[in-house]
Amino acid sequence: MPIDLRSDTVTHPTPTMRRAMYEAEVGDDVYGEDPTVNRLEAMAAERVGKEAALFLTSGTQGNVVAMLTHCGRGDEIILGDQAHTFLSEAGAPAVLGGITPRPLRNQRDGTLDLADIEAAIRPDNVHFPKTRLITLENTHNQCGGRVLSPAYTAAVGGLARRHGLRTHLDGARLFNAAVALGVPVTALTAPLDSVQFCLSKGLSAPVGSILAGPSDFIHEARRTRKILGGGARQAGVIAAAGIVALNEMVHRLAEDHANARRLAEGLAELPAVILDPSTVETNIVILQLTDDLDVYEVAERLRGDGVLVSAFYGARIRAVTHYGITTADIDAALRVFRAVLAPVRA
Ligand SMILES: *Cc1c(COP(=O)(O)O)cnc(C)c1O
Repeated sequence: MPIDLRSDTVTHPTPTMRRAMYEAEVGDDVYGEDPTVNRLEAMAAERVGKEAALFLTSGTQGNVVAMLTHCGRGDEIILGDQAHTFLSEAGAPAVLGGITPRPLRNQRDGTLDLADIEAAIRPDNVHFPKTRLITLENTHNQCGGRVLSPAYTAAVGGLARRHGLRTHLDGARLFNAAVALGVPVTALTAPLDSVQFCLSKGLSAPVGSILAGPSDFIHEARRTRKILGGGARQAGVIAAAGIVALNEMVHRLAEDHANARRLAEGLAELPAVILDPSTVETNIVILQLTDDLDVYEVAERLRGDGVLVSAFYGARIRAVTHYGITTADIDAALRVFRAVLAPVRA
């Protein structure tokens, strides 16, 4: 079995999830009659401190439903230039909603500079699109799993309210952030209008995401999900795994964070690697290779020795820890990294 560090999306459902899926009570969720989906949505809304929640097939669907619900054609979204919603969702808000992204430079810690946000808000002028929404990402994937603090989140929420703007959190790994910070999830969601989080990443469910927010917003979001063909029928079969994910898989995320830190500390000792392990706050490690190495070739050689990672532009490699990775796997992966990167040692 390879040590698969490409993403926490590769996690398989746990035995408890399989059993819950097998035994799930179901109904037609488009009629609002699937008791397991209803239970997951109520539970998820409560966890993130919002009035209501909606179960969706993926994080991408959760984010695009949020954006299409918050914004109309001709509206503009302020987001990070490293945001998943900007880089990795196929331009969905523009493609489907006539919504313009306004990317601002992400700071290395995943934040957007408050002054940059303030300066990007459009005045009312016939030439301009209308600024409608600010989107944050926590934890920040491309910035190496960095966490946004409750204080920063509250500052952005306050700024948005002063300008009459809406706010959305891409919290694909929201629970990783809360566990790493040692704060209740609600400290990261209360200042913002809506939040999307993934059940299918570190929480190990096979499929699904949650979008949560005010009741009237979720009511509209349900229609938007239907427009996108996301209304599912006996979805309780997959929602059942999501309930187990929320009940059983949150507290153990700290293990993934410890494993990521262990990996980062080992990697930082290699001369071919540029990485500050103190910036590894959750389950994502992004390292940079010294520029005489081809990142895709390195990833191929790691694969040949049984370690799977993601290679990114900019000579970067991403390794993500999760439920399927033990501390022994980390030590084995480090041995492979050392062997693959050894020839360049001076
Ligand atoms: C994975 C991810 C998503 C999208 O989730 P999918 O379920 O893969 O569509 C959104 N945002 C961030 C930050 C992610 O890492």
